Amino acid sequence: MISIRGRVAVRMERGAIRYGPVSTIDLDTWRHLPAAQQPDWPDRAELDRVVRELATMPPLVFAGECDQLKERLAAVTRGEAFVLQGGDCAETFSGATADNVRNKLKTLLQMAIVLTYAGRVPVVKIGRMAGQFAKPRSKPVEVRDGVELPAYRGDMVNGFDFTAEARRPDPARLLRAYHCSAATLNLARAFTKGGYADLRQVHAWNQDFVAESPAGQRYERLAREIDQALAFIKACGGDPSEFHTVEFYSSHEALILEYESALTRIDSRTGLPYDVSAHMVWIGERTRQLDGAHVEFASKIRNPIGVKLGPTTTPEEALALIEKLNPENEPGRLTLITRMGAKKIRDVLPPLVEKVTANGAAVAWVCDPMHGNTFEAPSGHKTRRLDDILDEVAGFFEVHHALGTHPGGIHIEFTGDDVTECVGGGHEIVEEDLALRYETTCDPRLNRSQSLDLAFRVAELYRA
Ligand code: PEP
Ligand code: MN
Repeated sequence: MISIRGRVAVRMERGAIRYGPVSTIDLDTWRHLPAAQQPDWPDRAELDRVVRELATMPPLVFAGECDQLKERLAAVTRGEAFVLQGGDCAETFSGATADNVRNKLKTLLQMAIVLTYAGRVPVVKIGRMAGQFAKPRSKPVEVRDGVELPAYRGDMVNGFDFTAEARRPDPARLLRAYHCSAATLNLARAFTKGGYADLRQVHAWNQDFVAESPAGQRYERLAREIDQALAFIKACGGDPSEFHTVEFYSSHEALILEYESALTRIDSRTGLPYDVSAHMVWIGERTRQLDGAHVEFASKIRNPIGVKLGPTTTPEEALALIEKLNPENEPGRLTLITRMGAKKIRDVLPPLVEKVTANGAAVAWVCDPMHGNTFEAPSGHKTRRLDDILDEVAGFFEVHHALGTHPGGIHIEFTGDDVTECVGGGHEIVEEDLALRYETTCDPRLNRSQSLDLAFRVAELYRA
C-alpha cells in the first residue's frame, strides 16, 4: 500500500529536486539492483550534473494524459479497441525535423484510418516517437575491419559514426534527447490538434502518394468512401468534435534509467509518481529480468507500461511480471507486447495467453511482428520480409481467435519515407534493392507503402 503524507514539500534526492506532496514511495530502489544495457559513462560527475539539470526540466507529458491513455488501454483490455503503436526503431537527433515527424504522423494516421474504417474498431494511436533515442544491443562492442569500438546505443548515449570519439557515451546527449523529444512532441501535438488530423483531410494525407503505389490507390478508394460517409453525417446534422482532432500518445523503451528516473515526478493531484518522459514506456526483451532494475523502476511509476515478451518467455515468467508490474490488476496498466517470430508464434503464444487468462489477469495483448523476423541479407543489411511480418500478425489473430481472447493491437517499426529496408510489398523491394535507401541506424523499418499494406491486412483480419 502507498501511504501519502498530504503536505506539499520539496525534497532532495541525489540532488534532484522534487516538488509536490511527499509520498513514502521510494523511487530509488532500482539503484540497488542489476541494470542491464546501461552505458559505461566515462564521467560520473558530468552524468550527475546532467541528471540534476534534467530533474528541473518541465514535464513532457502530464499525469492526467497518462491516465487517459490508461483508460483507452483498459478498453483494449476489454476487447473494445485496438492499439496502433509505431515509429522508428531508433529516433535520431538529426531526424527530428518537421518533414520527418509529419511524414511519420501522416502514415500513422493513414494506417489508423484504414483500421478504423475497414476494421470498424476504435484505434488507440501511440507513436514510438518523441523519446525513442536509446537502444539495447546484443553485443557491447562492434568490430569492423579488425577495429573494435563500443556499440552504438542510440543518440541518447553515443554517436552512430564508427569513430572512438563518436562512440564515447556522452551524458550531454541525455539533455539533447529531452529537447528533441520536446520539439517532436510539440509538433505532434500541433499536427494532431491543429486541423491537420481533421478527418476531412483524409485525401490530403495521401496526396503525394496516391498515384505511385497500389497501397496509395487502395487508400484513395477508402478515403472517397469516408468522404461520402462524412457528407451523409453532416447532412444529418452531425459534426462531432472527434472528427476534427486526434488523440495521440508518445512512447519509448524505458532503457536508460538515469534519464527516466530524472524525469519521474510526483503528480500534484494524486501524490503518485509518473515518468513524464512519455505517456507510455515499455521494458524491452533484454531488460525484463524480474529481479532487475528496469522492472523495479517500472513497478513504481503509474504510467501505462508495456513489456516485450520473446519466444523463450515461460508462462510462469509472464505471471511473475504481471504480479510485479500490476499487482492491483488494474486494466490498462499493463500491455504485453509479444514478439515471437512468424515461425514460432502459433506454438509459443497459446500457452502464455492461456495461463495469463486463466489467472484472471487484465492485460492488453499487442503483437510486435518485427523483432522476431529479422535476418541478414547477403549484402550484409539487416532486413525483414513483409510476408513474415504479415504471417506473424495472422498467427497472432489465429491464436487469440482460437482462445477467445482479444488481439489487442500491433507494435511496429515504420517510417513515413520511401526507404528500402524491409523486402516485399506493393513495390516489391527485393534484397538487391536494400542499398538504395537504407537509412535506419538500427532495425529495418517498413516504408509508407508497406505500412499501409499491413494496415489493410490487419483490418481484414480484425473483421474476419
Ligand atoms: C525494439 O523495440 O527496438 C527492441 C529492441 O525490441 P525487443 O526489446 O523486443 O528486442
Ligand atoms: Mn528495433
